[in-house]
Amino acid sequence: MVPITKLEAVIHCKCPRCRQGDIFTGKMYSFSFKGQITNEFCPHCNLRFEREPGYFYVSMFISYAMNVAEMISASVATYVLGLALVYDNLWYYVGILLLTVFVCSPFNYRYSRVMLLHWLTPGLGYVPGSGDEPKNVIKPA
Ligand SMILES: [Zn+2]
Repeated sequence: MVPITKLEAVIHCKCPRCRQGDIFTGKMYSFSFKGQITNEFCPHCNLRFEREPGYFYVSMFISYAMNVAEMISASVATYVLGLALVYDNLWYYVGILLLTVFVCSPFNYRYSRVMLLHWLTPGLGYVPGSGDEPKNVIKPA
């Protein structure tokens, strides 16, 4: 199988080690109550995604930075599109920002974890051919 690039692996939410297994189960945007779930292990190479207990708490900070960037972008876009920045329009801006946060939250949830796994975890990189050999890692019960 032809390996995909790191950027493609990030965009398609693939495992950082084998770049073939999916990190998530379920769609990013869906109306089901299950939504998107982070797999515990890579279905291809059996890498454990949660490296240690509480590992994904760090993605909260990445998500925060993404939220700030999105809110600033939404504010600037609203201003550029013609809504004057005066006190009378304050609640329009608040509503637009809350809507932005609500709409972008599944995206932020998913990509903050992917960025943490791919770019901010030392020692976790692409290993060509990983997952092609028989799985010798024992899953805990
Ligand atoms: Zn993998």
